Amino acid sequence: MPGRNFLFVPGPSNVPDRILRAMHRPMEDHRSSAFPGLIRPILEDLNRVFATTSGQAFVFPATGTGMWETALVNTLSPGDRVLAPRYGQFSHLFIDCAQRLGLTVDVLQTPWGEGAPLEQIEAALTADQQHAIKGVLVVHNETSTGVTSDIAGVRKAIDAAGHPALLYVDSVSGLASLPFEMDAWGVDAAITGSQKGFMLPPGLGILGMSQRALAKRDQAKCARVFFDLGDMRKANATGYFPYTPSIPLLYGLRESLDMLFEEGLPQVYARHHRLAEGCRRAVAAWGLTLCAKQPKWNSDTVSAIMVPTGINGADVIDVAFRRYNLALGAGLSEMAGKLLRIGHLGDLNELMLLGALAGAEMAMRDAGVKVALGAGVAAAQEYFRSTAAPLPARDAAAPPETRARPGSATGSGGRSGGGDTPAARKTAIGA
Ligand SMILES: *Cc1c(COP(=O)(O)O)cnc(C)c1O
Repeated sequence: MPGRNFLFVPGPSNVPDRILRAMHRPMEDHRSSAFPGLIRPILEDLNRVFATTSGQAFVFPATGTGMWETALVNTLSPGDRVLAPRYGQFSHLFIDCAQRLGLTVDVLQTPWGEGAPLEQIEAALTADQQHAIKGVLVVHNETSTGVTSDIAGVRKAIDAAGHPALLYVDSVSGLASLPFEMDAWGVDAAITGSQKGFMLPPGLGILGMSQRALAKRDQAKCARVFFDLGDMRKANATGYFPYTPSIPLLYGLRESLDMLFEEGLPQVYARHHRLAEGCRRAVAAWGLTLCAKQPKWNSDTVSAIMVPTGINGADVIDVAFRRYNLALGAGLSEMAGKLLRIGHLGDLNELMLLGALAGAEMAMRDAGVKVALGAGVAAAQEYFRSTAAPLPARDAAAPPETRARPGSATGSGGRSGGGDTPAARKTAIGA
């Protein structure tokens, strides 16, 4: 098929060519004296993304699901109680994981479309005078509903109750795209995978553990072999792994971290916010609503869009894929057929997103949704035009008479100039 597949599911996200090239290499001895030179800086640099100086990062040949298990089995014993709100498919599966590991989960039923219920968490912990609850499990960015929860608020709720429970946070579709503050938020286990914000193929589980969480290992009785952090820590201390790691993915992760730092993490977060806002303008122009029930919960990595009654969201997704080579995310479980999701995370810019919005409009029309073609695209275009920062390096290289004036909304002169380097582009986005 000519052209690119338009991959707009909220993970796996698009893998940039730079990362593809970095991974394309022959296998090598993962016990060689050179290997720690790759591994040690990766583990240190991951701490920058988690925003922790005291915590420790781990990388497993696994996925996000494996990191749920790793975080739990290394800190808890069968029968231990944990508290977890359920407000979407991923919080549901996180709870299911804990239950199948033999933990007792106090589930806080929360409507889909809402985020972590801070008052209920505080009340449940306050009522637990004996401190029987050992952990609080929350999903930072609920990918099934496009809802981002206030993790700093969860920490405040735990502290207000004066409760020692550990805070476990699934940020599989948040980390490296949304602001994340492991130390400042007092996160004890930060869980993610490679195929979303890190712009990599699936296959790596990435985990950040606080010292307080690591200290629980000695008493934690859950069975663990592959996911034992003791083995991993011992091997990582010398720059190795207790078994064969995914060598290509580790080279990819090196490249991914370089790209994130070159753009700058604050710029990465700002870019995601701006792209998401453009998408939300399109949704409003379509006359549709998000699954997220309040703006404070809007996710900057995925928009879950309710389809009108009488329309099956799955039909929109099917026609988008078959006719336009556009992959959109389906409604999951309770939301099956009721919504469609546009992922806007990872290696993405305005024009890519506009292409997906155009395709979504066509597919919605084909499936019977009464949207005016171009309406959403135009709304997003206006937003992007009015908020565009001229790409600075290109602007500086342009002849003075064509340069964008400061405050100019269009920046067209700046964009036509020279300085067409990848570095220039990268430092510019989201500035
Ligand atoms: C994708 C995702 C997962 C599952 O991760 P896998 O890598 O598929 O195991 C877990 N939680 C959230 C919030 C996700 O978006």
